[in-house]
Amino acid sequence: MYGVGILKGLGVTIRHFFNTYVEDLRYVGKKLNNTQEFERRQGVDSTGLYTVQYPEEKIAVPERFRFVPFLVVEDDDHPERPGHDWCTSCGICPKVCPPQCIWIVRSEDPVTKRPIPEPEAFFIDIDICMNCGLCAEYCPFDAIKMDHDYELADYDRTGIGVHIHDKEKLSKPFSYWRKIAPTTAWEEAVDRGGWEHIDVIKQKQKSGAPIAKPGPTWDSPYVPPIVPVKEEAPAAETAQAGGEAVGTAAEAAPVEMSAEDAAKEERRKKREAALARKHAKEQGGEG
Ligand code: SF4
Ligand code: SF4
Repeated sequence: MYGVGILKGLGVTIRHFFNTYVEDLRYVGKKLNNTQEFERRQGVDSTGLYTVQYPEEKIAVPERFRFVPFLVVEDDDHPERPGHDWCTSCGICPKVCPPQCIWIVRSEDPVTKRPIPEPEAFFIDIDICMNCGLCAEYCPFDAIKMDHDYELADYDRTGIGVHIHDKEKLSKPFSYWRKIAPTTAWEEAVDRGGWEHIDVIKQKQKSGAPIAKPGPTWDSPYVPPIVPVKEEAPAAETAQAGGEAVGTAAEAAPVEMSAEDAAKEERRKKREAALARKHAKEQGGEG
């Protein structure tokens, strides 16, 4: 039927219109003298329509809000790599950026001229950026994120730092990302296996150094899902011949592969099968 969408849209507007008065009645007298109520009303949970006295008043943005990208760097008080870039200048984000507004210059060793995995320069043309967030989605190092800061207006029509954000302007500490997006930062840390940069985690895993892992006591409103503990398989009690004890429970239990490992194993099998076919073909040709 024609016009259903229009009626639904009007219904949403009317609902918000009436909610304005419901909110006013519910919080009458509180909003002017109660900071918490004021913040709630200006926040994403508020349902009514009202005027915001910007810039004195500002509406809180939800965690998933995104404006322009910024680069994550280590905090200044990081014990091992203060201020270090998370970006490895892998070059993925400039490739996926639809309007092609990212430029990177990769660092290189001044002596050997070999590339170093960190950006010497990083530019984003903010006038061209369409805030799509693809750069942040594709970055394999969680090094580029979408900012909540939307107040970028400036009188200056030219110049780096205003319309083109350079590395200095783009860089913000990891603690800033944790502050503006606590849930997402926690989920990413769980995926990486620790709070640090993925390369640092890998190095620590190799050397056996302790890794700061996100746990349920983490200072975020997000409650992590409870992962059921697997029951330990009973130890293999006797050997098939001779009745000797063989191995521990962990050794006896079947090894459960992660999806990533299973995919790797699948690829390995395919490679081997392709090689076997190639060899067979070559031998057939020789014969
Ligand atoms: S948000 Fe989108 S348009 Fe902006 S820099 Fe990232 S990929 Fe490019
Ligand atoms: S995808 Fe991430 S690591 Fe790669 S260049 Fe972009 S920000 Fe740096």
